[in-house]
Amino acid sequence: MTRRAVFLDRDGVLIRTFVRDGTPHPPQTLADVEILPGVPEALSGLRDRGFVLLVVTNQPDVARGTQTREMVEQINAHLLSALPLDGVYVCYHDTPDGCDCRKPAPGLLLQAAREHHIDLPSSYMVGDRGSDIAAGAAAGCRTFLIERPYSRCNQVKPTWQVADLREAGRRISAE
Ligand SMILES: [Mg+2]
Ligand SMILES: [Zn+2]
Repeated sequence: MTRRAVFLDRDGVLIRTFVRDGTPHPPQTLADVEILPGVPEALSGLRDRGFVLLVVTNQPDVARGTQTREMVEQINAHLLSALPLDGVYVCYHDTPDGCDCRKPAPGLLLQAAREHHIDLPSSYMVGDRGSDIAAGAAAGCRTFLIERPYSRCNQVKPTWQVADLREAGRRISAE
C-alpha cells in the first residue's frame, strides 16, 4: 500500500507568526502559540483520507541564540498533543552551518519519508515561504504556497497557491 503524506511547515501554516519589519517570527513561548482557524478540521479531514501528517520546520533562532531548544520542543509537544499530527521534524541550524536539513534543502522531508515509509511523488508539501516550496519540490512532492506578504517565492513555482491550510486540504481531497 502506498503511504502518502502531507508535509506541513509549522509557523504560518499551523500556528500564527509574528511579523516584524516584514519578517515572520515564531512564537517565543508556549503562551504565544495560537493555532490558526480551520487547522484542526483540515488536519482531521486529511487524516481521515489516510494521509500521514508530518511537520517539517526550520528553527534557526536556536542556532542564533535567541530561542532554546527546550522551548521549541515544548511548543512542538503541545502541537503533537493538540492536533492530529504523526511527527515533527526540526532543523535547529542556521544557513552558515551548511546542514542538509534546513529548508530549502529537502533533508527533513527525506528523513521523515524514510522513517514513515512515505511515497514522495504522491505526497504534498504545504508552506508559506519560498524555502518550503523549494524543499517540497526537491523532495519530489507537489506543493501548496499559502501566500503571505513575506512569502518570497521566486525560485520555484508552487503547484498551487492557496489562502490557508483549509483550502489546501479541500484541494487535496478533491484530487
Ligand atoms: Mg512558515
Ligand atoms: Zn539543519
